[in-house]
This record gives sequence, structure tokens and C-alpha cells, in this order.
Amino acid sequence: MLPDLKRLIQLQQLDNTAADAQRIVDAIPSRIEALDAELTARTAAVDEATGRLDARKSERAAVEKTLAAIQTRLSRFREQLMAVKTNKEYTAMQHEIATAEADVQRHEDTILEHMLELDDLAAAVTTAKQALSASRKEIEKSTAALMAERGDLEQTLGRTAAEHDTLLETIGAEAQVLFNRIAKQRNGVAVVEARDGLCSLCNVRLRPQVFNHILQNTALVQCDSCNRILYHDPNSKPAAVPAVDAP
Ligand SMILES: [Zn+2]
Repeated sequence: MLPDLKRLIQLQQLDNTAADAQRIVDAIPSRIEALDAELTARTAAVDEATGRLDARKSERAAVEKTLAAIQTRLSRFREQLMAVKTNKEYTAMQHEIATAEADVQRHEDTILEHMLELDDLAAAVTTAKQALSASRKEIEKSTAALMAERGDLEQTLGRTAAEHDTLLETIGAEAQVLFNRIAKQRNGVAVVEARDGLCSLCNVRLRPQVFNHILQNTALVQCDSCNRILYHDPNSKPAAVPAVDAP
């Protein structure tokens, strides 16, 4: 194989590794954002459940206060009943007492309803807090894993960049210029395999004499369509399904 072609293939492999690592690194902030959003939602759920519980508690406190006032009034009516002088007054007072007693009953029923509801609301707060706590642990673990992953990827990026520079120095000036020009135009991919008579990236069918030339790996042959440098990998297995020509 032409030495420069061999080195360009290695150079492309390094660049591909670096590009893959960079893509994953770039996606890490949005993955962390998603974890943060989950934590925010869990925290909001706890706040909401606590808010509902507190609101019901104040409602119950208000009902209890009203009930106490009615009971005070009722005791006063009962004392006054002893002091009435006429039948008319007695009947009127009895009516007041009956009304107050009905009021007491109504408020006591409400308090009972609130107690049952408060149990449910308190249980909902507990559930939401447990979910938050479990989620927080998971998120801390996931975040730590992402940080570790980022550390590894940054090491890969540093290593591939250094290897890229070292390798580039061993490549002939013309081949360097060609590689850099195509890489710049073609999103960092300047060297690709030719397989089954096709450019493996743009899928264009190569002219037979061009493909035969590539099979020898003795020159820098470019794809007629995408201009990338093509090579033949003798270890590459032919595709099981015939590749489809690009339109
Ligand atoms: Zn091509």
C-alpha cells in the first residue's frame, strides 16, 4: 500500500474517533439538563402535595374555630334557658338551641371528612418525598457517571489530537494539503473505503477502471462524486445485500 494512503487512513480513523467523542461530549449538557428537569419536577410535586395538605389543615383549623364559637354560644343558650320567664321565651330559646346543635353536628361532620382527607393528603406528601429522594439518588449517580464519561472522552480527544499531529508530520505535503482540503469541505471525512464498486459514503458507483485502480491501493484516488480519497480494505467483507446506487 502507498505509505501516504496508509497514514491518511489512520489519520481519518483518529479523526473519526475524535468526532464520535466530540459528539457525545456535546450532548452531555442536554443530558444533564434533562436530569435537572426531572429533579425540578419531583421537587415541584412535593411542594404541590405539601401545599394541598397545608391548605386543608388551615381549612380544618377555621372549621374548629367556628365550632368552638358555636359551642360557646350553645352553652350560653343553655344557661339562659334556666332563666327564662315566659313560655314564649322558652320556645324561642329552645329553637336557638336546636339550631346551634344542628350547627355543631354539621361542623363535626365536616371535621371528620377533613380528617379522612388529611390522611390521604399526608400519604401523598410521603409518597412524593420518597419519589424525590429515590430520584435524587439516581440523578446524582447518573450525573457522576456523565462526568466520568466526559473525563474519559476528553482524554480521548486529547490523545487523538496529539496522535493526529504526530501522524500528520509523517505524511507528504501534497497528501496533507489534499486531506485537509477535502476534510474541510466534507465535514471532517476525507478518506473512505470503496466497497463493491461504490464509494461507501456517497454511494456513487465508481467506473470499473477507477475501482480497479483503488483495489491496488497504490495511489490517492478520489471519488468522482464527493472527491473523498478512496481505499480498498482487503479484510472488508462484501455486503450481503447489494448496495443501492445513490440517485
Ligand atoms: Zn463519494
